Amino acid sequence: MKIALVGNPNSGKTTLFNALTGSNQYVGNWPGVTVEKKSGKYKGDKSIEIIDLPGIYSLSPYSLEEVIARNYILDEKPDAIINIVDGTNLERNLYLSTQVIDLGIPMVMAINMADVMEKRDEKIDTKKLEKELGVKCVLISAVKNELNNLMETLRSLKPSEERAYLSDDVEEAIQDISSLLKDKDFKRFIAIKVLENDPKIIEKEKIEPGIISRAKELALGLGQKYDDDIESIITSKRYDFISKVTGNIYIKKHSASESISDKIDKIVTNRILALPIFVLVMTLVYYISVTTVGTMATDWVNDVLFGEIIPPAVESFLTSVNCVPWLSSLILDGIVAGLGAILGFVPQILILFVLLALLEECGYMARIAFIMDRIFRKFGLSGKSFIPMLIGTGCGVPGIMASRTIENERDRRMTIMTTTFIPCSAKLPIIAMIAGAFFNGAWWVAPSAYFLGVAAIIVSGIILKKTKPFLGEVAPFVMELPAYHIPTLGAVLRSTWERGFSFIKKAGTIIFLSTILIWFVTNFGFIGGQFRMLDTLEIEYSIAATIGRAISFIFIPLGFGDWQATVATLMGLVAKENLVVTYGIIYGFAEASEEGAEFWGTLASSFTPVSAYALLAFNLLCAPCFAAIGAIKREMNNAKWTLAAVGYQCLFAYAVALMINQFGNFLVYGIFDVLTMVAVVILLAMVYLLLRKPKAHSLKTIGGAQD
Ligand code: GDP
Ligand code: MG
Repeated sequence: MKIALVGNPNSGKTTLFNALTGSNQYVGNWPGVTVEKKSGKYKGDKSIEIIDLPGIYSLSPYSLEEVIARNYILDEKPDAIINIVDGTNLERNLYLSTQVIDLGIPMVMAINMADVMEKRDEKIDTKKLEKELGVKCVLISAVKNELNNLMETLRSLKPSEERAYLSDDVEEAIQDISSLLKDKDFKRFIAIKVLENDPKIIEKEKIEPGIISRAKELALGLGQKYDDDIESIITSKRYDFISKVTGNIYIKKHSASESISDKIDKIVTNRILALPIFVLVMTLVYYISVTTVGTMATDWVNDVLFGEIIPPAVESFLTSVNCVPWLSSLILDGIVAGLGAILGFVPQILILFVLLALLEECGYMARIAFIMDRIFRKFGLSGKSFIPMLIGTGCGVPGIMASRTIENERDRRMTIMTTTFIPCSAKLPIIAMIAGAFFNGAWWVAPSAYFLGVAAIIVSGIILKKTKPFLGEVAPFVMELPAYHIPTLGAVLRSTWERGFSFIKKAGTIIFLSTILIWFVTNFGFIGGQFRMLDTLEIEYSIAATIGRAISFIFIPLGFGDWQATVATLMGLVAKENLVVTYGIIYGFAEASEEGAEFWGTLASSFTPVSAYALLAFNLLCAPCFAAIGAIKREMNNAKWTLAAVGYQCLFAYAVALMINQFGNFLVYGIFDVLTMVAVVILLAMVYLLLRKPKAHSLKTIGGAQD
């Protein structure tokens, strides 16, 4: 006998699974994906196999977990299902339950958290609930091992009767399709999915074209009647049913004052306050990590550790062993200077990681996604896109990979294209360097870079959504807001360590190799027809300067058309930290590190605060590092789309940096010339792209038809 556990995340599935199976467990992966698969034998009867399916909110095709869970059920046809629901949150959990009921597999609903309900003095009439739903219901407490007669009930299960609980017109349509499915299993469930035009089910069940077109016809009829798409209609009918059920079954409803979590959410996710609070929180995060605490530590690492301690020690060691000049230059002016420049920013990066981990652990990040969903939705964008961006604040590569949870291909591509606009931790040193060197460490520089990234994502989203490849309905996004809780030290440390360690690994490999390359190209060159190592004063003849000068004209409109900035930007493609590393090597590390004064002096001729900010903006928004481009290529799985993504990013970055430089020059220095006019034209073009109306007929595709 095979029994599947189905339930929302956090409903207690794993706890129940462990209680039922004890140590008889097998953990593996679902074929082809990295979602964990757990199965085991029931302690009391080894002939019963239990599968812990991934936690899900529905059986729609929008996330990997959902697809895995429903494919398992459709393919393996378990003999019974335990649908575990969180009794303290019945209404939300029943959405999935109705869909499981549609399957018609013998099912028992295990209403978990009975202990909490008892404590809250909350009582449910399970007999009534059984009648309403047509399935057996038992109260359990998985943590207390109070599994009462769950297994007894299971043994005596009969197939659940087919229930028609949606509105009559919808039920008629379901009946219509269901009668065409002849001898298929799970008729009701499949009929609903075919009506919803679920491409995965249609393909999997090999639904005939005749049935599909009949379903489209029915969906169109309902769609016109309700002026909505069929999926939303069915969803809202489900909720109608659920609220009728939950209105009937409580003997005593939990009425105690709302929890602290609810109270916090009232403010934090409030329609008006949510956004200002989000801005405030992220400003604080950057203020603390870049401007205050982080800077103190960074100054010490830069000035003392990599200023007074390490370089002199290395230098005297090299002298004492009579190191050849080129090697000691490579070590001192290349590796130590380059790595030193970047390692100085480690404290700031670590503090950013700690703060991000705190926000994740306490539950605020989930709220940000919720808030952003509300905003994104207004523009026809999927709120799901924001999850990869939150992850991208640490590193763009996992951020891009997180786009996998977006099932709709258009939304997924768009998310992949825009995720790296969010400043990742590798861009933090660039931000901190520019803030320190050109803005006297002003507090607003770092948060402004973050919000520039957010704005770039929203603006790109709106612009792209109106172009042909991205037109279409947005997939619904159901998300649970977990209760706030105090983060545990262990979890914060683990998350910080994981991110921090991957940074250290990067510094030890790719950045280390970059320092050697940068040192080589800045210290060697042709001079007087001869290729040789150069003196400090001959840097203008270096390979870097030669290559940089050849292409630097591109950046003149952006305000940083010198070879140094060009080389730094190019090296930034290898790893964004290289921007700082390059300046560290070119200007000699000691100068790059010191709070601006000398650095400023060296750069004064080629930068103004305006053009420095344009340099920052360009490097934040343009093509990400090679690792992230690789991730884009893997996820897009298509060379053309990869090129389109990187091309779009560079173009967008160029346009934004040009506007910043030109408008900045006009506002600050009153300069108005041809390039200012170009900036005006770009601005107008952007406004047009933002405001234009997409072709209306293709936007509304009934039943969420996929192309
Ligand atoms: P899953 O995501 O569905 O696998 O849920 P878990 O089994 O990981 O449980 C989520 C949380 O709920 C854990 O902290 C459990 O300890 C807790 N939990 C599970 N069952 C019960 C229960 O019956 N009563 C109480 N009070 N907590 C429970
Ligand atoms: Mg679990």
